[in-house]
Amino acid sequence: MNAEDLTEIERAGRRCGVCRSQRAWRRFHIVRRGDREPVVVCGSCRARFGEDPPVARTSAPAPAPAAHEPPSPATPRESEHRRAKPAPDRLRAALSEIPGTFSTAMAARAAGLSNDKTLTRLKDLAERGDVHRVGNRWSTESPPSDLAAAIDRLEARTSNLRIVRDRARVS
Ligand SMILES: [Zn+2]
Repeated sequence: MNAEDLTEIERAGRRCGVCRSQRAWRRFHIVRRGDREPVVVCGSCRARFGEDPPVARTSAPAPAPAAHEPPSPATPRESEHRRAKPAPDRLRAALSEIPGTFSTAMAARAAGLSNDKTLTRLKDLAERGDVHRVGNRWSTESPPSDLAAAIDRLEARTSNLRIVRDRARVS
């Protein structure tokens, strides 16, 4: 350690510029890089960071990140969307009260909507699989799968054959 190093160490308050440790300051090391102030580093920080201790460069300050990014205001479209959001779905609520199958008119009465509107909504729901047509009526119950229907037909024709549907196996 030369006099110049000692001056730097004294200037730094005998503290490591990275971890602020004062331990064994006599073995501190001075990192001198062209683009920054001399940095005093302790033995362990030097071992860790070598000649590139993570301290602020004085000659090339990092620009404040994202300072120029304009704040993103809520778009008019968004607030319109929020306003246009429908009230709680009366049709869905009504359907959950109707057991089994129902006609469009029944659903319309239960939901307090017009027939036309109800029919449009029911077609919508049918596309999503929430309801399905049963003849000229509707149902919220899930349709039997092809396999289940096939087994039902088979059971109906077979008097002395029991078909065991998949059950949880017991070991
Ligand atoms: Zn240190």
